[in-house]
Amino acid sequence: MLKILHRIIRFTGKYKTPIRLSYIPSLVKGIMMKAPLVLCFLAINYFMEGTMDKQKCWYLGLAVLLSVVIQAVMEHVVNVLQSATGYKVFADVRLKLGDHLRKLPMGYFTEGNIGKINSVLATDMVFIEENCMGVLSELVTFIISQGIMVVMMFFMDYRLGLLSLAVVGVFMTVGNLMLKVSLKHSVIKQETSESLTEEVLDFAEGIGIIKSYNMLGERSHKLTDEFRKSCKDSIDFEVAYGPWARALYLTFGIGTAAMLALCAYLYNIGAISPIYMVGMALFLFDMFVAIKSYYGQMARLTVTDASLDRIEEVFEAEELADNGTAALGDGTGAPEIEYDNVSFGYTDKDVLKNVSFSVKEGEMAALVGPSGGGKSTIASLLARFWDIKEGSIKVKGKDIREIPLGTLMNRISMVFQRVYLFQDTIYNNISIGRPDATKEEVYEAAKKARCYDFIMALPDGFDTVIGEGGASLSGGEQQRISIARCILKDSPIVILDEATASVDADNERAIQEAISELCKNKTLLVIAHRLNTIKDADKILVVENGQIAEHGNHDELMAAEGIYHKMYTKLNGNMREAS
Ligand code: ADP
Repeated sequence: MLKILHRIIRFTGKYKTPIRLSYIPSLVKGIMMKAPLVLCFLAINYFMEGTMDKQKCWYLGLAVLLSVVIQAVMEHVVNVLQSATGYKVFADVRLKLGDHLRKLPMGYFTEGNIGKINSVLATDMVFIEENCMGVLSELVTFIISQGIMVVMMFFMDYRLGLLSLAVVGVFMTVGNLMLKVSLKHSVIKQETSESLTEEVLDFAEGIGIIKSYNMLGERSHKLTDEFRKSCKDSIDFEVAYGPWARALYLTFGIGTAAMLALCAYLYNIGAISPIYMVGMALFLFDMFVAIKSYYGQMARLTVTDASLDRIEEVFEAEELADNGTAALGDGTGAPEIEYDNVSFGYTDKDVLKNVSFSVKEGEMAALVGPSGGGKSTIASLLARFWDIKEGSIKVKGKDIREIPLGTLMNRISMVFQRVYLFQDTIYNNISIGRPDATKEEVYEAAKKARCYDFIMALPDGFDTVIGEGGASLSGGEQQRISIARCILKDSPIVILDEATASVDADNERAIQEAISELCKNKTLLVIAHRLNTIKDADKILVVENGQIAEHGNHDELMAAEGIYHKMYTKLNGNMREAS
């Protein structure tokens, strides 16, 4: 169990020293807590011997008062040393975690780790910061108090001392077994809580789809199963833990009774005087309280151990290496984007094989091809959402792994199909693109993205708070706000995932105009879903089965009569049929 304590202290990092220092006042407090009992015992002794006088009475009274005052002062010192330590420790840990999450590859977030991050932030950290830091010094108080009680027993009679030591031994055996059970079940309970969180998030996020496909029953069965499992795990925990907790209480009762019985026996055989009997009556009911409380608190700390495991697990996830120092300069002559024999797989299986192409500054390259071919993967690798397995991706002639991530991110803007707006004002949602932008620049970006007018028509204008995920705006309006964000960012490279979702004609036109503003004088990598929008692209890359099957401009590809030609004529045929 000392291992857990050591681990928690190690976790407190730079706040270790005040926590360790707080052990000293805790130790003094532990001694002072028992001082009134010892003084009481002395007083009774003087009375029985008939030696109590006024002066002794004063001294004893003052000593009791002093012990109580010291206790209060020590309590205060412990509070000062430890107060808010938990909050300070976890404020730092949360910042560190935020920084760490920022550096993880996207794969970490798509591999079912959202529930884990959520549990770590919402459950584990909160539990430790609120429950554990203050407990550490209390444990010292309990150990000291229990030690004093046992020593006192040895002073009274060695047999009482030996019995109290034996009872403490039984406490330790039962207590440690109880902690083992608690630890095992805490791990199970927390794992269940993690998958429950995952399921709840999944359900809440997909509620629209679930309803439209009439899958409410089916999906809520899954959720209900998770709730049932969580309930079962909690009951299993109580069933397994309960007997040990009761055994601890039983040890307390039997231990106290055994001490009382031994005391009576010793009195009977004349080994201890009546005054010792009275002294025992004072001590006995308080005899094993400290060790009982110690195990009570330790049971809470075992949860901490499992929580620390999970916090550390998130911290251990491998970050994308960000040790590049290359400056981007103007890289004269080098293409803006260059893929050279890039191979990549999300798992062991390759999704991209030997992809090579380059895009010059100011050019537009369009990725087309069947769904699942690898277009989005190619684009996301440029922003280092994942790192490639083989080959290289260069920006201005520099391998993107050698460029600091921050610099690379400043170079690229991405317009995704799925827009995410934060639950914040419209103004703040746009200014994320460049936090130091002036108000005029933010308004200008909004105008270019064709969203100024609809924003001004809202009662609070730019100060309107958007619902979570952009809920209070139409899809087209959300899309335009996200484009305004990118216009403000003004990065030289724009990755554009062309929208597939149909919006009304007005919105469609406004979005197209906003995109045209965004793309002026930029190097473009477009994931195209509609071939007629990219006819003018400088370069069209046909991606099939993770490879560039064809490349060239529209005329060249039409003349080659390959995949692109087939796709284009099929599309136009369909359009003619439809009209
Ligand atoms: P496209 O954009 O052409 O539709 P993608 O790049 O999205 O194709 O997908 C290429 C392949 O990679 C597909 O087989 C897809 O299932 C797989 N894939 C895409 N994203 C992931 C991911 N996050 N994890 C695992 N596999 C993925």
